[in-house]
Amino acid sequence: MKNIIVTGGAGFIGSHLCEKLLNEGNHVICLDNFFTGSRKNIEHLLDNREFELVRHDIVEPILIEADEIYNLACPASPVHYQYNAIKTIKTNVLGVTNMLGLAKRAKAKILQASTSEVYGDPIVHPQREDYWGNVNCIGIRSCYDEGKRVAETLMMDYHRQHNVDIKIIRIFNTYGPRMAENDGRVVTNFIVQDLKGEDITIYGDGSQTRSFCYVDDLVRGMTALMNKDGFTGPVNVGNDGEYTIKELAEMIIELTNSNSKIVYKPLPSDDPCKRRPDLTLARKELNYEPTVHVRDGLMKTIEYFRTTL
Ligand code: NAD
Ligand code: UDP
Repeated sequence: MKNIIVTGGAGFIGSHLCEKLLNEGNHVICLDNFFTGSRKNIEHLLDNREFELVRHDIVEPILIEADEIYNLACPASPVHYQYNAIKTIKTNVLGVTNMLGLAKRAKAKILQASTSEVYGDPIVHPQREDYWGNVNCIGIRSCYDEGKRVAETLMMDYHRQHNVDIKIIRIFNTYGPRMAENDGRVVTNFIVQDLKGEDITIYGDGSQTRSFCYVDDLVRGMTALMNKDGFTGPVNVGNDGEYTIKELAEMIIELTNSNSKIVYKPLPSDDPCKRRPDLTLARKELNYEPTVHVRDGLMKTIEYFRTTL
């Protein structure tokens, strides 16, 4: 049995990861400050003797023992990470440093949840791991994008300088049950608007593209990376089907059979025009393959919101 810390474990992806790690027979310690996560996401795990929940902000140091650390603590939706931009940077610099210090002292493996946002508004398409990206360092998204870039730098420097066993996963847009209703990201906004009979808000003309990964596929990629000896990444994990935001809106309207209308709102600044992962490295090193088609994953997410709204 391994002792595994999941920071951000009460969040959307973190709660699915805690569940998987417990099912595989591990002891899981979830650290979360409940900024965007909620107790509801992990309520079903609280009776499990192998699950510990600690209210903790990773910007503060913590003394605790572990074999592995999955560092997911950080708001992921643009609305939430821009709400307190300075806190977002601190989480990615001070928080990541604290977790790396813990990994170094406890001799634990550590996996950092990085993001496709390190590629910014990409000029290379699809995005491969050796592309250095196109990020505006003074824009409204930079607290997150640059924060995650520094987090990757810190990971590599602790690896080179202190030999810490590190793993970097670059997560592309992931969706599924337990996303917060007020999350502000596109999949939740569209499904919630649609189920409430409200207009669906496309920012810009809807020609920007994203690639949507169902959470079960992502979490499988995460544990595969943690368990792959001698490989640090960074490695892209996601789904390589690419859709315009307008296509996504139309798909959700079709799947729910609703009468919602599409309305157009201004595009926020620095919103990437296109995004799709090149998954060659994940396929080769992790034997990773996304298995859930976007229509099936959306249906499961729609069912979830039908029961929770
Ligand atoms: P989420 O907002 O649901 O989860 C983030 C969790 O971290 C929440 O439970 C929140 O309360 C917690 N948290 C935030 N700041 C903290 C702090 N300082 N100390 C302790 N806990 C803190 O988002 P998510 O979609 O589950 O994302 C999880 C991770 O994956 C994030 O690091 C995010 O950057 C990364 N990621 C997600 C996506 C995606 O599409 N979902 C894409 C790329 C990267
Ligand atoms: N978007 C939209 N309507 C919404 C929310 C988002 O058109 O109600 C767009 C957003 O401008 C972006 C894309 O959908 O182009 C994905 O946004 P999201 O916030 O989910 O994630 P991002 O990939 O931009 O971080």
